[in-house]
Amino acid sequence: MSNPSARSSEELPIFDAVVIGGSYAGMSAALQLARACRSVLLIDQGQPRNRRAAKAHGCLGWDGVAPVQILEVGRQQLLAYDRVQWLTDEVIEATGSVERGFAIHCASDWRYQARRLILAHGVVDQLPNIPGLAERWGETVLHCPYCHGYEICGTQIGVLIASKAEALAQVKALSQWGAVTAFHAGTLSKDDVRRLSGELEGIGVTLEESALAGVTGNAILNLADGSVRDVEALFVHPETCLASDLATRLGCETEDAGCITTDSAKQTTIAGVFACRDAARFAGNIALAVGEGALAGVAAHRSLLGLLP
Ligand SMILES: Cc1cc2nc3c(=O)[nH]c(=O)nc-3n(C[C@H](O)[C@H](O)[C@H](O)COP(=O)(O)OP(=O)(O)OC[C@H]3O[C@@H](n4cnc5c(N)ncnc54)[C@H](O)[C@@H]3O)c2cc1C
Repeated sequence: MSNPSARSSEELPIFDAVVIGGSYAGMSAALQLARACRSVLLIDQGQPRNRRAAKAHGCLGWDGVAPVQILEVGRQQLLAYDRVQWLTDEVIEATGSVERGFAIHCASDWRYQARRLILAHGVVDQLPNIPGLAERWGETVLHCPYCHGYEICGTQIGVLIASKAEALAQVKALSQWGAVTAFHAGTLSKDDVRRLSGELEGIGVTLEESALAGVTGNAILNLADGSVRDVEALFVHPETCLASDLATRLGCETEDAGCITTDSAKQTTIAGVFACRDAARFAGNIALAVGEGALAGVAAHRSLLGLLP
C-alpha cells in the first residue's frame, strides 16, 4: 500500500470496517467480516496483554501454546482472505459517525476511512510499584489462577492483597490452588493490617505484617523488616485502564470501572462503533476475547446491512 496520507479525504482508502487492535478479539471480529466478503483493515501495535507469558492456558484447542504462536496462526488464517489488510501501527485519532463514516489517523500519519469501527485495543495493566515485580510479570508474578494456577498447584503461593475489601475473596479463591500467604504493599494502616490479619487467620491464612518491599530470584519476597519468604508464584491484582482513549474521544460512554459500555451486540453508545473484550470488560481471557470478537464482527456486519436496531 502506498501512504494515503498525502491524498485528500475523499480519496482515502475506505474499508467496510477498521478494527483497532489485532489480537484475539480484534482478529476474531475481522474473521466474521472477512467471511461475509467485507473489506477489513486491522491496525495493531503488537502489544497483546499476555505477551509476557511463555504459555497461554485455559483456551480450548490452544491450552499450553505460546501466545505469540496462537496470534500468528490467527493472523495467517485471516490474511488468506483477500479483502483483509493488516497494518502494524498505532491509531492516534478516530472521528466521525455512522452517517458520515469514520476517519482513522495513525501515528505514522497514514489515514483511512471506515463505515464501521471496532475497538479491540485491550487494556494496560498497572502493577504496584514494588521493585522486581514488573520484571517477573507473566512469569512468577501472575494475575489469574485460571490461566496459570494449575501449573503451581499444591505449592506455596503468595498473594498481594489489592485492598481491604477484596482481600478475603482474593485469598479464598487462591486457596483452591495451594498454601496461601498474604502480603500487603504498605498502603494499609497498622489497624487495617491487624484487623485483616485476624479475618484471614479465621480461614487459616497468614497475613505478613511487614510490607512487601521487593521481589528477587524466581519469586523470593523481600519484606520491609529484612525477612524473606520464598513462594512459587505471587498473585497480584493490577489496576487496569484502557490502552487508548479513542473511545472517550469518540464520545462512547464508559462504565464506572473504566471499560467501554456496550450492549448485547457489542455496540457502544455511539452507533457504528463496536467494542469487544478486555476494552469492553476488564476481566478477560482468550476464549472470551475470541467469543466477543466474533459477536462484534457479526454485529458490525449486520449494522452494515441495516439489520441492527
Ligand atoms: C500476564 C498475563 C497472562 C495471561 N495469561 C492468559 C492465559 O494463559 N490464558 C488466557 O485465556 N488469558 C490470559 N490472559 C488474559 C488475556 O491476555 C487477555 O484477556 C486477552 O489478551 C484480551 O484480548 P484482547 O484482544 O481484548 O486484547 P489484547 O490481547 O490486549 O490486544 C489488544 C491489541 O491492541 C493493540 N492496541 C492497543 N492500542 C492500540 C492503538 N491505539 N492502535 C493500534 N493497536 C492498539 C495492542 O498493542 C494489542 O496488540 C493473560 C493476561 C496477562 C496480563
